[in-house]
Amino acid sequence: MNDTITVIYIISDRRSGSTLLENILSKSTETVSVGELAMLKGHIAKQGPGEIWHWNCSCGQPVLQCSFWSKALNGIYNDNFETKITWPYKSSKALMAAMLPVIAKNNLKQFIQTKKNRQTTESLDVLYQAIAKTSGKNFIVDSSKDPLQGLSIQACANVEAKYIWLSRDLRAITFSKLKRWKVNKRSEKKPLETLTDSFYYKKICSATLKSLQQNNFIKIEYEDVAANPQHQLDKICSFIGLKNYEAPQYMELSEDHTIAGTPGRFERKPIAADNSWKTFYSTHKVLNFLGKVFNSL
Ligand SMILES: [Zn+2]
Repeated sequence: MNDTITVIYIISDRRSGSTLLENILSKSTETVSVGELAMLKGHIAKQGPGEIWHWNCSCGQPVLQCSFWSKALNGIYNDNFETKITWPYKSSKALMAAMLPVIAKNNLKQFIQTKKNRQTTESLDVLYQAIAKTSGKNFIVDSSKDPLQGLSIQACANVEAKYIWLSRDLRAITFSKLKRWKVNKRSEKKPLETLTDSFYYKKICSATLKSLQQNNFIKIEYEDVAANPQHQLDKICSFIGLKNYEAPQYMELSEDHTIAGTPGRFERKPIAADNSWKTFYSTHKVLNFLGKVFNSL
C-alpha cells in the first residue's frame, strides 16, 4: 500500500462552488474531506467567520467535542497551533506578483516564509498526518481556497499537494458576493469594486499556480461541474490518481466533519448551475461588458 498522504487542495474565490466540489470529492471511498482547514483554529476559538453555524463542525458539534476532530487534534492542539496562512493581500508586492507573475514569483514565496507562516506550515503538516491517521484515508480534500495557503503545503515535509483551481465567471462571483453581503451586512462594496477585486484575486490564483510545476494542478470551471459533474469528476480522479466513482446528483452532507463552507450546505440540493446572476446584468450593461473582458484576461 502506498502510504503517501496527498492533499487535494481546492483553490478558488468565494462564491465559486468550492463547497460543492469538496462535497462531490468527499463521496470517494478513498478520501476524507475536512472543508476549509484554514478556518479550523478560528472555529475552535469561535472567532472570525462561522458565526452563523456557531463555528461548529458540520456534524453539529463544537470542534473539540466532535468525534472526529477531538481525536485528530488530541496531543497536537497547543498554544503554537495555527491553521491559517496570512499575507498582505493588497500590498504592492502582491500586486506585482498578480500582474507580472514571471518576474515577481518570489514575492509569493516570501509571503509564506514569515516566521508566523512557517509555524503555521509546521502545524498543518502535523495536522494533515493526524487527519490521515484518524480517518484511515490518504487523500485529504482541503477546500481552504486561499492560493497562498495552498502554496504553503509545498513546504510540508510529510504530505504532497495536488491542486484544483476552480474558476467561475467573474460576473457570477460578483453578483453572488453582493447578494451574500446584503444578507449578512459584512461589506459595503459596490459592484464595480467587487468585480475588479474578484479579477485581482483571480490573477493572484493564476500567479500562484504558475509558480508550481505544470503537472501539479488542474483547472476546472464551476459551470462545467454544475452542467456535467461526472465528466469533470472523471477528469479530476484521473489527475489525482483516485478510482473512478459515480458522481452524486445532490449536494448533501453525510457523516461529514467539515469546517466552514457555503452557508447553504446544510440543505440537500440537486446539483445544478445557479444562473440567477444573468438577470442582474441585463440592467448593468457596462459591468457586464467589463466582466466579459476580465474573464478573457
Ligand atoms: Zn464533526
